[in-house]
Amino acid sequence: MHEMSIAQGIMDVVKQEMTKNKMKVLLKVKIRAGKLNAIVPEALQVCFDMLLQDTPWPGAMLEIETIPIKLKCPKCSQEFLPEDQEYMGSIIQAPCPNCGTDIGHEIVSGKELLIEYIEAE
Ligand SMILES: [Zn+2]
Repeated sequence: MHEMSIAQGIMDVVKQEMTKNKMKVLLKVKIRAGKLNAIVPEALQVCFDMLLQDTPWPGAMLEIETIPIKLKCPKCSQEFLPEDQEYMGSIIQAPCPNCGTDIGHEIVSGKELLIEYIEAE
């Protein structure tokens, strides 16, 4: 499952950080996930909770902030949020609200997938 490999990746980084900073108890992990990663937050949450069962901190929380897809028009440089945010890996085609151009847009945001911070003690 897509979400399981992502949860595993998050967990690997969290464990490294915990060791590096000599922290004992993980409280919370906050991640930012762009819409283009096609992550289902509920599924990622379930996978993360499963992985937590094999750690010393089964009660840690995962907070997922979803970042919307934002595009920049190649003709008029207008930045906009396309109405359809559910691309799930398909080709992006969305009309620019200013001039109507619907292909060739630059992706301003929506691709990011990162750990914003880890709360631990
Ligand atoms: Zn435009």
